[in-house]
Amino acid sequence: MKFCSECGYSVSLRIPPDDDRQRHVCDDCHHIHYENPRVIVGVLPTYGSKVLLCKRAIEPRKGFWTIPAGFLENGESTADGASRETWEEARAKVGECSLYCVFDLPYINQVYMFFRAEMSSDEFSAGPESLDVALYEEQDIPWSELAFPVVTSSLKYYYQDRQSGVFPTRNEVMLFKRPRNG
Ligand SMILES: [Zn+2]
Repeated sequence: MKFCSECGYSVSLRIPPDDDRQRHVCDDCHHIHYENPRVIVGVLPTYGSKVLLCKRAIEPRKGFWTIPAGFLENGESTADGASRETWEEARAKVGECSLYCVFDLPYINQVYMFFRAEMSSDEFSAGPESLDVALYEEQDIPWSELAFPVVTSSLKYYYQDRQSGVFPTRNEVMLFKRPRNG
């Protein structure tokens, strides 16, 4: 951040009184610009024994498979946001959403909240952000072509929990692995 969104003046990084970390503070109006993690919501849509995956039409990870997910919008509940993303990316309607996986990604300041939900029908199609959408049985999941570690983890939890039929809410902190010499 370079300029104050309130008045347009320059900002400086400093620790405000009664705070314990640096913030962008306006040099003129002294507005403190707090920046906090963003929330990504999504659904692991199921239809009987199958799971619905979307092939990404956009970067990052274009051409790789994911579950429908995206940024939570202002004024929206997490479950509603997850259902909305499922419609936008997979043109699929889902029933009640149950919170399933919460992933913390502190290195990129993101929180993922994935729900489980049964599709209302087997109707689906690719939305504008998907190249393809398909229902997969467990043995056909394209493990080597999944877009993100959070997707891989969610599917592993799902197939593990499905054996018992009990789906506890999972929470995992994902840490950035720096490339060697990177
Ligand atoms: Zn200002």
